[in-house]
Amino acid sequence: MSLNIVELQKLDQSNYIHPFTDHLPMHQMGTHLIQSGEGCFLIDQNNHRLLDGLAGLWCVNVGYGCKEIIEAVNQQMQKLAYYPSFFNTATESAIQLANRIAQLAPTPRLKHTIFSESGSEANETALKIILNYQRLRGHPKKTKILTRTFAYHGVTLATTSMTGLASCLDPFGLPLAGFIHAPGPYHYLANTPLDPEAYGQWCLEETEKIILKENPETIAACFAEPIQGAGGVIVPPPGYLKGLRELCRKYDILFIADEVITAFGRMGCWFLSKIWNLDPDMITMAKGITSGYLPLGATLVSDEIINLIYRNGYFAHGYTYSGHTTSCAAALANLDVLDKEKIIPRVEQETGPYFQKRLSEFTEHKAIGEARGYGLIAALEIIPKEGKAALSPTANLGVKVAALAREEGVIVRGIRNLVAIAPPLIISKEEIDYLFDGVKRALNRLY
Ligand code: PLP
Repeated sequence: MSLNIVELQKLDQSNYIHPFTDHLPMHQMGTHLIQSGEGCFLIDQNNHRLLDGLAGLWCVNVGYGCKEIIEAVNQQMQKLAYYPSFFNTATESAIQLANRIAQLAPTPRLKHTIFSESGSEANETALKIILNYQRLRGHPKKTKILTRTFAYHGVTLATTSMTGLASCLDPFGLPLAGFIHAPGPYHYLANTPLDPEAYGQWCLEETEKIILKENPETIAACFAEPIQGAGGVIVPPPGYLKGLRELCRKYDILFIADEVITAFGRMGCWFLSKIWNLDPDMITMAKGITSGYLPLGATLVSDEIINLIYRNGYFAHGYTYSGHTTSCAAALANLDVLDKEKIIPRVEQETGPYFQKRLSEFTEHKAIGEARGYGLIAALEIIPKEGKAALSPTANLGVKVAALAREEGVIVRGIRNLVAIAPPLIISKEEIDYLFDGVKRALNRLY
């Protein structure tokens, strides 16, 4: 580093507003600076080696220091760093990437992609396409958007409104009018006598009641993460998502899969929509599309929707950096690496099952109320010494465990009373052991 740690921390405190951060305690403790990364490991300011059990923010799927992506970016930048796709132009990498996504898509009717720079923008773009489409097909009153509690869909005004987390909504007096939340299938926190499957059915019954109360003629679309990520890694019980999809069909509501976390391999497949047969009308994605090497979001749209919009003429939406030439080159190289190194089948058949097996061992631990996950994503629900009944929603035990885990050499994310784990997809079995051993040492120090 050109400045020493203390100088950097001082500048940080003076000038840098961090996303999703409690600044004053951070300023007191000093920001944790990350200097470099290789594979699944990061090196911090003190030259400590940390296993990144969250892959940045659930995104560095191919790990750090991937030569192929670095080289592709370098070459693209030298040739043409950027040119827009507005009006009638385009650059090759954007066209190639849209075509590649169409080939990977769960169903042939999903084959048209518009790019943006983030998951929030991918969802925001989906929202505008939905409003445009509903008007064009003669349903201008269909404007409301249905999502679930514990959903996370982004940070713009509209995508925050879609997010079902009080911590994101309350500070801003959101949601905006017209954004409706149905119960998400978070069985563990529901404290219900129902088993998970029956609880999923209860959530569907409540969702149907909400649809009828709001009037289906006013509801344009439902957005759902197949596995809810930032809300707490909520894996839906069997039958629930199929039921949600059917409800949308029954009431003529578009169904959008937000696969910002679940696409591109974390679940051992390109898209969860495919293996769970969700048949969405659109899929939104970001994160793993470039493994975080450059910002990129994408909104994949069905034939039916886009053809009506095309027939109407001018499409008045897009960002300066939609289809950014170098971001798309990074994505293409990233998809090549996933393909050539057979990373996704390995997650499906080897590392995913091993990760879930190691995870399940935590159910024996005195500080764990539930261990759940799928592929290479997991949540551990932490309970206090006195047991789950004594759990306080504000205890933030997950945040405490994540801080202890960092001291033990592994990064996981604390969310309320749980820790979320989502390592790079290149993680080996030995590194999975290293990760869970670190988490276990942290848990052993909790009380
Ligand atoms: N959708 C989901 C499911 C996410 O997990 C996230 C981010 O974590 C977003 C949307 C927003 O993406 P971004 O932070 O790139 O705007």
